[in-house]
Amino acid sequence: MSSLYIHIPFCRSKCPYCDFFSVPSEDVPAHYVELLLTHLQRLPRGGGALETIFFGGGTPSLLTPTQVALLLDGVAAHFGFADQAEVSLEANPGTVSPDRLDGYRRAGVNRINFGIQSLHGENLRRLGRIHSAGEARTALEYARSAGFVNVGVDLMFALPDQSTAAFFRDLEKTLDLAPSHLSLYGLTVEEGTPFQGVQQRGDLRLPDEEVYAENFLGADRILTEKGYRHYEISNYARPGMECRHNLVYWRRRPCLAIGAGAHSFFDRGWGERWAVPQDLARYGADLAAGRDPAKLVERFDRRGAMAETLYLGLRTAEGVDDEAFARRFGCGVAAAFAEGVSRAGGRLRREGKRWVLDRESWLLYDTLIAPFL
Ligand code: SF4
Repeated sequence: MSSLYIHIPFCRSKCPYCDFFSVPSEDVPAHYVELLLTHLQRLPRGGGALETIFFGGGTPSLLTPTQVALLLDGVAAHFGFADQAEVSLEANPGTVSPDRLDGYRRAGVNRINFGIQSLHGENLRRLGRIHSAGEARTALEYARSAGFVNVGVDLMFALPDQSTAAFFRDLEKTLDLAPSHLSLYGLTVEEGTPFQGVQQRGDLRLPDEEVYAENFLGADRILTEKGYRHYEISNYARPGMECRHNLVYWRRRPCLAIGAGAHSFFDRGWGERWAVPQDLARYGADLAAGRDPAKLVERFDRRGAMAETLYLGLRTAEGVDDEAFARRFGCGVAAAFAEGVSRAGGRLRREGKRWVLDRESWLLYDTLIAPFL
């Protein structure tokens, strides 16, 4: 076990497109940090020192530097950190100051990712973001002044009424900030969000599939020319700056998790997924009663494990290593999924010993992986 995810389910206010588990709050209550430390004590230590730690949310940058230090001290005492461990924290540009970022750096965070989403004021307003484009730019300056080298951003495309030209302008402005990592997400309307209601009323005009594809492939071209590596469907990085924690998920490696709403993956048997319910009161009650707050969500059989290994791996540029697959499951991808491989036609192809999808095929990812589910 070499990775740990810490969920911080609090945000200043709820963005109308977001379906992640978080509740509105100005800060992270001290009591929640105590619960995280109690939860931490329950985790098995068998996997050795941690190689990646990820503060996700919600808005982890609502944690004070003292709270981050307290949590990382607890993590270090329980597991220890491997040399060069990656410690990531997701930050909202509307919640940071030079002191706060300096404090995170001193506490041991060495990778920071800002959810800027757009550098266009009207987009930010419609997305319900609490920060301006100017604050996003300043946040990156503060982070670099605090000594962060690995500074990433999240950017969105396929926004309401956004043309391809407008998105490319947004992307160019973002590149002026020289992020070392860029996560690029097309807006999707999730069930139960306020955006779904707006869409049902006919007031949300989203770009059609053709514009979506132009944006996706255009971004790939622009970013590749600028020296970024498109290493996962939605992620680009300068060489060597890939998010090691997220690669753990796509490579289907084990990852522990603490916090209300957090998911963990264990590699015993063919794999098990556990999740902590999205319920803060229940989280506190379970831990106070000495119960494990996580519940088993899925115990995989061999077939399910093979399918998941394939469709997670195909999200990445490295794809799926056929020899490693055969060592684990006793047969290669083509033998395990003869029909699915044939239905994918030339889109799913061999590159040396790896199975990969190319950029155009990533656009059809959901359709292409359907036969393997
Ligand atoms: S800040 Fe992030 S996690 Fe919080 S509501 Fe907005 S998109 Fe969701």
